[in-house]
Amino acid sequence: MSTQHKKIDPAAVEGDFFRVKDLLSSQERETLERVRTFLAEKVEPTANELWARAESPLHLMDAVRDLEITGLPGDAPGVTGQSPLLKGLISMEMARTDPSFATFYGVHNGLGMGSIRECGSAEQQERWLPQMVRWEKIGAFGLTEPLVGSGTAGGLLTTARREGDTWVLNGEKKWIGNATFADLVVIWARDEADDQVKGFVVERGTPGFTARKLEGKIALRGVQNAHIVLADVRVPEANRLQRAESFRDTARVLKTTRGGVAWFAIGCSMGAYEAARAYAVEREQFGKPIASFQLVQDLLSRMLANITACQALAVRMAGLQADGTLNDAQAALAKMFCTTRMRETVAWAREVFGANGILLEHKAARFFADAEALYSYEGTRDMNSLIVGRAATGISAFV
Ligand code: FAD
Repeated sequence: MSTQHKKIDPAAVEGDFFRVKDLLSSQERETLERVRTFLAEKVEPTANELWARAESPLHLMDAVRDLEITGLPGDAPGVTGQSPLLKGLISMEMARTDPSFATFYGVHNGLGMGSIRECGSAEQQERWLPQMVRWEKIGAFGLTEPLVGSGTAGGLLTTARREGDTWVLNGEKKWIGNATFADLVVIWARDEADDQVKGFVVERGTPGFTARKLEGKIALRGVQNAHIVLADVRVPEANRLQRAESFRDTARVLKTTRGGVAWFAIGCSMGAYEAARAYAVEREQFGKPIASFQLVQDLLSRMLANITACQALAVRMAGLQADGTLNDAQAALAKMFCTTRMRETVAWAREVFGANGILLEHKAARFFADAEALYSYEGTRDMNSLIVGRAATGISAFV
């Protein structure tokens, strides 16, 4: 039997088998191409090294700014709009190259800026967002605590006490991405007076605020996650997000970013699939490329099917976002489904590499490990499933 390739479908080589990118306008495609070139030239070459050293790509901040994709119209003069589909495909491309880079970018552009945009007053938006668009100030989002993860809606232990025009924050936060170097960390805390969750922008250098990098992570090592301690941190009323009155407002920020994680999951799956496909056609056993074995082809087909099913879902999600009708349960279903399929896909990709699949130099290992973090952050698979279950039954199984 000849092992010569008959005809290779370029869309299958890329993992975009149903050519979702063709849905973009030509101008949008140009933007996406610009991002892809940046990722290939600047992010890809050092992704493994930064992952191994557990370092964030801070040296790329100017280059990221120059891409002119940060922020939304209204955040700063000159920011152009992106359709939800383009935004999703940019997230996908970032994660396809490096999920750590995608997360580093998403924490700033999504969670950090999103909190100020959704929950800040016009004055607060004007004060911080333009600098964030230019990456002169980096944002972070502090919700999770050492003792409160999935249950953040049910009661944060971090407290805020008002003293005249000042708020005094006390407590701890865990897992806060970018917080070791961020200039603005949004801290969500329970107001002692009314028990409601409120958001506070804590600026770097505020006395009583410390952020220690979590060591020993086995996923998304290129993202720095911090354990924050807040000991009598005094924040002016001007730094309290004026439109955050309860956890419902925090949830508004999470709804958009959760959809983004679905796109990250697709990108992570694509990166792993593409690495596996390339390896399968090169690696020989029994005198032939392993790609010529039916069982290996079946793994590749199943990976492509997972990616394609998730893309189809995400494209529809982008349509609902464009209409302004995407609800929490739909975003939760997309996050739940795409991260579950991703976990399966990256494991199959790793399998194609045999032992080499656990070596960082072969890339599939990095996607395999990073998938674990995507699966659990922004609400674990289980919590997102329960949000869908609540929408389906009218009964909440978790609070
Ligand atoms: P837990 O809540 O302790 O859950 C443990 C297990 O119990 C999970 O499997 C969960 O699904 C299950 N479980 C819990 N409750 C229920 C229930 N009612 N029913 C069924 N099962 C349940 N947070 C931030 O605020 N800012 C960040 O920037 C940030 N970045 C992160 C980056 C990374 C790499 C990671 C890994 C996490 C990050 N997080 C961040 C935290 C993340 O959002 C939480 O880890 C997540 O919400 C889960 O909380 P937990 O880890 O405390 O797990």
